[in-house]
Amino acid sequence: MAPPPSSFSSSHQKPEIRKDKINNKLIIFSPARSKRPSDFKSKSPVSNSSTNQLKECPFCIGHEHECAPEIFRVVDDPNCPSNWKIRVIQNLYPALSKDIGTHNRGSEDSGCCIIPGFGFHEVVIETPTHPVHLGDLSGAGVGEVLMAYQKRVLQLASVDSIKYIQVFKNHGASAGASMSHSHSQLIALPIVPPSVSSRFTAMKEYFEQTGQCVLCEKPPKELVIHESKYFIAVVPFAASYAFEIWVIPQYHSAHFQDIDKDKADDLGGLLKLMLKKMGVQLNNPPFNYMIHTSPLHINDSDLQFSHWYLQIVPQLTVLAGFEIGTGCNINPVFPEDAANILREVVVEDMEENFREIHIQGS
Ligand code: AMP
Ligand code: ZN
Ligand code: ZN
Repeated sequence: MAPPPSSFSSSHQKPEIRKDKINNKLIIFSPARSKRPSDFKSKSPVSNSSTNQLKECPFCIGHEHECAPEIFRVVDDPNCPSNWKIRVIQNLYPALSKDIGTHNRGSEDSGCCIIPGFGFHEVVIETPTHPVHLGDLSGAGVGEVLMAYQKRVLQLASVDSIKYIQVFKNHGASAGASMSHSHSQLIALPIVPPSVSSRFTAMKEYFEQTGQCVLCEKPPKELVIHESKYFIAVVPFAASYAFEIWVIPQYHSAHFQDIDKDKADDLGGLLKLMLKKMGVQLNNPPFNYMIHTSPLHINDSDLQFSHWYLQIVPQLTVLAGFEIGTGCNINPVFPEDAANILREVVVEDMEENFREIHIQGS
């Protein structure tokens, strides 16, 4: 995470090209293309009123019969299982099919350009009631959603030929969400996606050059938004998107699914705080988050350089021709500015549990 010491520009008047050494990408920071960073607001906020207009949907409690089959549910009281808090269900319109027989399954190693679309695509319904969003739950409530991800990831990881599991959330139509009821998704894949392999290789190269895990290095204070007991929330040095946030375990861990309840509760609190800060500062933007974990079944020796994190991307700008053509994003907001602004956002009744970050001169 640590950039070369001299690389922070003080005025940010000049464009800069930074390397994201974890994802092996180049990002152009171009403040000339933006208004002041603090003026950034979503032009298509996810309004509570639009969520409330639709009072009930298939993901609401009492509508379970309108959904694809359930995998498991989380309840407070086992004597009253109909009163669920979280449900993990099959996706009614899955991107991949779990019903393709093993004998048909190809292998990415076999050099074919086509392999059967075997896999699992599932939905995690995060709350029983329609207008309640993930950030409205308590930190421990968000922690329970994270533990539901963990439970399902562990189950899917034991399936023969599953090689990677992506957990993600789309919130708001321009972030790709088709359902407004608070939910996230899991897709279990029979391949390791190229972006995951590339991240894995970049982390390995960094370890070979420095003897360090790249994400175990303490990030510079200028990039830190907040830290909790086990996690740290930062704007990455070469953020691909304006106000992008990474929440990184401060303990070394290659796989998200190794999290325990104590750590999930702690992450739940920090994730809630980041969602609230983003909502206040950026006008309740559509957003995505993704859990970037390591491929399943890696060697023990590879565990030492591979480190998972959660990426939150508010959808404030569109990717246009240059980005599609080159794969280099243009980010109009320098990460230090974004971190400074997000650090200062006050979320009522939330921050007493978190250590303050003090930056000299800010
Ligand atoms: P998103 O499109 O990101 O909002 O995710 C919602 C997901 O829920 C989509 O992938 C849909 O295919 C899936 N879905 C929609 N309706 C149902 C339903 N009744 N039961 C199960 N999955 C559903
Ligand atoms: Zn609903
Ligand atoms: Zn590490």
